[in-house]
Amino acid sequence: MTTQLPTPENTTIMPPTNQRTTTLLSNLSSVTTRITASSTKSPNTRAAPRLVAVSKLKPASDILALHQPPTNHVHFGENYLQELQEKARLLPASIKWHFIGGLQSNKCVSLARDTRALWAVESVDSEKKAGLLDRGWGERKEEMGGEEKLRVFVQVNTSGEEAKSGVDSDEGVVRLCRFIREKCPRLKLQGLMTIGAIARSRATTAENENEDFVALKEARDRVVRDFGLEGEGEEGLELSMGMSEDFEGAIALGSDEVRVGTTIFGDRPPKDQARVV
Ligand SMILES: *Cc1c(COP(=O)(O)O)cnc(C)c1O
Repeated sequence: MTTQLPTPENTTIMPPTNQRTTTLLSNLSSVTTRITASSTKSPNTRAAPRLVAVSKLKPASDILALHQPPTNHVHFGENYLQELQEKARLLPASIKWHFIGGLQSNKCVSLARDTRALWAVESVDSEKKAGLLDRGWGERKEEMGGEEKLRVFVQVNTSGEEAKSGVDSDEGVVRLCRFIREKCPRLKLQGLMTIGAIARSRATTAENENEDFVALKEARDRVVRDFGLEGEGEEGLELSMGMSEDFEGAIALGSDEVRVGTTIFGDRPPKDQARVV
């Protein structure tokens, strides 16, 4: 993807073949059914969790197939800045984009300033990056769309693995949340996000509680308590947790948003073989 020239502005994205469209619609519908079933059973759920369809390394035509009628799915997640910006430029502005990938400081301003229809950044793990996103949102041109504030999630490293990004202590999470609320006027703290350990997620079932999800919920409760957010009539802080392997277990523990890729779109190609168009 990095070696390709940008696709021209006036390129028209066509939906994929009927067969591919049928597969995608049926996959999305079965995930939606499973989400509804899990949230109906869960005493922790406040409302039906949002489904972010993770479309990284998948073509723009796949996204269009799910965004157009009859499904009109709106929330899509991407991991790579250049790929996200190209898709956002080519696809309808009615899509709500989530950046969920590892965030590099030197790309934060462009992410916030130059990504059309950006709805949330879910992988904020330092004050520096939060400050740069705040600055980029302030430099944004009106035609890029978006509301007064950019929603952000603080990414928490709940598994304590060195290789995972995310803030790795409760104190650190509280501190970063405070920085966002007090020092970043253009950001809205939407919630906390975790990826969690794969080994643990494989063992996740509705009965078998995933420690990462328990830890994220505890971190959220701590932030809510420290900031006195209980009973303020706000929605509270969301939990973004649960992927293909473990979203039902995450919903059982109160997830407000699941991020599902493979179960909807199938296996991903290697990055150097992925094509937007
Ligand atoms: C890729 C990715 C997902 C989706 O993973 P699947 O296992 O394909 O559902 C969710 N969240 C993040 C942060 C990701 O990078």
